[in-house]
Amino acid sequence: MNTSAIEVRNLHQRYDDFEAVRGIAFEVGRGELYALLGTNGAGKTTTLDVLEGYHAPTEGQVRVLGHDPFAQRAEVRHRMGIVLQEAGFYKDLTVAETVDAWRRWTPRAMERGAALERVGLAHRERVRVGGLSGGEKRRLDLALAVLGRPEVLFLDEPTTGLDPEARRNVWSLIRGMVEEGTTVLLTTHYLDEAQHLAHRLAIMHEGRIVTEGTLADVLGERGTRITFRLAAVQPGDLPYDVGQDRRTIRLDGDAYTVETRGPGLRRHRGRCAGVGVRRGGGAGGGLSVLVHDDQREHRRAAGGARLQAAARQRAAHQRSLRG
Ligand code: ATP
Repeated sequence: MNTSAIEVRNLHQRYDDFEAVRGIAFEVGRGELYALLGTNGAGKTTTLDVLEGYHAPTEGQVRVLGHDPFAQRAEVRHRMGIVLQEAGFYKDLTVAETVDAWRRWTPRAMERGAALERVGLAHRERVRVGGLSGGEKRRLDLALAVLGRPEVLFLDEPTTGLDPEARRNVWSLIRGMVEEGTTVLLTTHYLDEAQHLAHRLAIMHEGRIVTEGTLADVLGERGTRITFRLAAVQPGDLPYDVGQDRRTIRLDGDAYTVETRGPGLRRHRGRCAGVGVRRGGGAGGGLSVLVHDDQREHRRAAGGARLQAAARQRAAHQRSLRG
């Protein structure tokens, strides 16, 4: 066994006759954050369920910290932290009571105060869980997942449904855990989430990994179609010089599509973001970029918070060049 924290080899997973995962393989090194992206039903949660030891693989092999998480569950379950897509809290318990209940089942659990401090919830410990915001519930999820100081953390769509500020808070918590050496495998629908957090990522579609690598590898490997919406931007403001390799620009309602041949996504994305800033930074609902490849939507970056931040930096850089 090598030093990988997570190994997946030729994993197939069936539900009766339906094959949800169709022969995937990847490895996550210790201390690495690896993101599984994909459309609804791509097989991300199923993959996580197998790695968390809830199911034995139908076919293939998985290892977590060198152990089979299903057959050798006792060896690894306390070394893993898990945040499920839907938290199953008792709404009538307070935050403190919820953490205390989990501490009873967690060997070597950290103190309640330390766990809540860690996720910025210490001031809410007397509040009933039913009264927490969506972002606070996600933070409570994370507090429970890290109580036992896990070596590997599984996060299933940790920021879905959160507003931009809550997402950024959760991102910084996750980054802090990775900086401390925790290995993280997360699933997400958002490319910008992977962009913020992941060392490497895989994009799943219909049970298969269609592309894998660092963000630069993934974005650079194919021709790209970018669609973006900017509420406050008129067609005349668009960066028509988006690159020599562009093929077409189309307007459809308030969405503009740029098709390119080469690995130019990052360059084009920067220009798109630049437009957002020129029009005042906020650009209404912000900037959203849908990335398609081979006519299928595999990748999605929504929200635009990071792109707007990148655009601000870019604008400042351009101003400094001019001045
Ligand atoms: P999402 O982004 O919507 O959470 P996902 O990539 O996590 O999707 P999965 O939840 O792994 O996808 O589901 C993969 C496929 O397996 C889907 O078609 C889903 O309907 C199916 N599936 C998941 N769980 C079961 C189950 N218990 N029984 C039967 N089919 C299931």
